[in-house]
Amino acid sequence: MEALVIGSGIAGMACAVRLARQGIHTTLVSPAPSEHSESVMAAGGINATLQGNDDGDSVESHVLDTLKGGCFIGGEKAVKGLCEHGEEIIRYLESIGTVFSVDSENKPVRRAFGGQSHKRTYYCGSSTGKQIVSALVMEARRFEAVGMITRRLRLNFYSALIKDGVCCGALLFNDSSSRLEAFYSDFTVIATGGQNALFGKTTGSTLCDGYAAGKLFMQGAELKNLEFIQYHPTTLETPQKKMLISEAVRGEGGRLFYLENGERVYFMEEKYGEKGNLMTRDLISREIYACGKEAFLDISFLDGKTIDERLSEVRDICMKYRGIDIKKEPIPVSPSVHFFMGGLAVHLNHETNIENLFAVGECASIYHGANRLGGNSLLSAMYSGFVAGTEIAGRTSHRKYPDLTAYMEGERKNLKKSFDSKSTFPVFYIRDMLAETMKDDLGIVRDEKSLEAGLSDIGYYLSIAEKIRYDRSVPPYFNYSLKAILTIAGATVYSARERRESRGAHYRSDHTDTKEEYAYSSIVSYGNGDYTVRLDKEQIYES
Ligand SMILES: Cc1cc2nc3c(=O)[nH]c(=O)nc-3n(C[C@H](O)[C@H](O)[C@H](O)COP(=O)(O)OP(=O)(O)OC[C@H]3O[C@@H](n4cnc5c(N)ncnc54)[C@H](O)[C@@H]3O)c2cc1C
Repeated sequence: MEALVIGSGIAGMACAVRLARQGIHTTLVSPAPSEHSESVMAAGGINATLQGNDDGDSVESHVLDTLKGGCFIGGEKAVKGLCEHGEEIIRYLESIGTVFSVDSENKPVRRAFGGQSHKRTYYCGSSTGKQIVSALVMEARRFEAVGMITRRLRLNFYSALIKDGVCCGALLFNDSSSRLEAFYSDFTVIATGGQNALFGKTTGSTLCDGYAAGKLFMQGAELKNLEFIQYHPTTLETPQKKMLISEAVRGEGGRLFYLENGERVYFMEEKYGEKGNLMTRDLISREIYACGKEAFLDISFLDGKTIDERLSEVRDICMKYRGIDIKKEPIPVSPSVHFFMGGLAVHLNHETNIENLFAVGECASIYHGANRLGGNSLLSAMYSGFVAGTEIAGRTSHRKYPDLTAYMEGERKNLKKSFDSKSTFPVFYIRDMLAETMKDDLGIVRDEKSLEAGLSDIGYYLSIAEKIRYDRSVPPYFNYSLKAILTIAGATVYSARERRESRGAHYRSDHTDTKEEYAYSSIVSYGNGDYTVRLDKEQIYES
């Protein structure tokens, strides 16, 4: 039996090592090494409730906080599974070499993240993601040494090989040869992360552009909850990207304020009391947006030693990119796109609506409902990889692959034809215009008018994209990926227009109430250039 895992961040690697451990040869492909994945950026920590905690925390509280944070549209069964496996995942990570921060009695320490009733975020100094990635890379190498995992770089997902609704591998674009390679596999797992390219500058990795989910959508995969996009309230503006000022700063007591006539107004504490600075991300983002003033985050009152020990990454980012000494001065912050609750719709076993095609990590939508709690995505990246790996190992293989030569030849010809033609229209001009549209029309606050305008703009960009044959100023990937990226962008705006209520990260100024009739996930499908959205009232993805 052969498995193909596409994307080598934490979710892809967790899946690959779980498959290999169960005796299934797995090929793990990505354009860049795991050390360049978005997963390494995670600084704040990973959530779990461990036995023996003395503060009354429990799996049930973790489940409740997660469901509440997701405004009760994150699947209950899925969330239960996620939270119940927190301890097992922490123990596993320790066993492969992840070193969590401990107190003077050698007990792992926890910090508070927004929307949590207890401190349950375990961390490794300020480099949790890096530590987990390093440990998983070592584990993947161990399996590579015994021939159970093959890791290949410079390979991008191009399209899925699908026959009669069953996936049997993928076409991969090789950056080195500029050719398509066909890869047959019994099971294919997509682990390509979020959809940052839709918004241009975000806190995340530009390698995660939403292309794979967009292309699969065009090939028949359903997408879910696309309208829920998490704006992180505290990011620092730099020329290249928005640098995350981790929630850990607020977890350590950081206070948000703005200036009015030279006086500090601690707006979150004034409105929401003692826990104001730790309210959920959507709420704080909206408060900053509503105040219409520059916001600041102050942690300078904390002793320097604690800052060095627990917030060194934030300290370094502020100094390196803006020359700000957080021990002495507040940090200017603004909300920015940070996490995608929506993505490929998957069942509890992480299979999509296309048989033998799975999705894990941030590219899949299942646990976080309308809003994700900080620390829950590293947990879900690990857990989803394990769930898919275990599920696949329990299946039997079809083995006899269908003949897809004609499809593959057709795709190769299309690609070659596009290389031979020229266009004067730069691909990045359209990507930049798309980012502007998404930020303007699908921002922290949306309404029917802005969403209509967004749909119309994206329709126009798609019509131009059809005419661009090949922009020689950029690598081939950026050419062939454009249409699918625009298509998933259109589906996102369309889903947001159809949800005529406010819930979690989706806030509409023309429908400010949360409405019972919308208390379901939204599922969007594609056909002949059109989108169809339905609410998952039968909860088909909860099984
Ligand atoms: C700045 C920042 C801080 C964060 N902090 C935290 C935190 O403290 N706690 C927490 O729980 N979460 C945090 N998150 C979120 C968390 O890091 C991510 O949700 C998680 O790491 C996603 O893991 P993943 O494996 O799904 O995707 P990624 O780590 O993004 O990996 C995606 C992989 O897919 C590959 N890929 C992409 N496109 C293609 C393609 N077309 N073909 C082939 N391969 C492709 C990429 O190269 C990469 O290998 C943070 C996110 C950011 C941006």
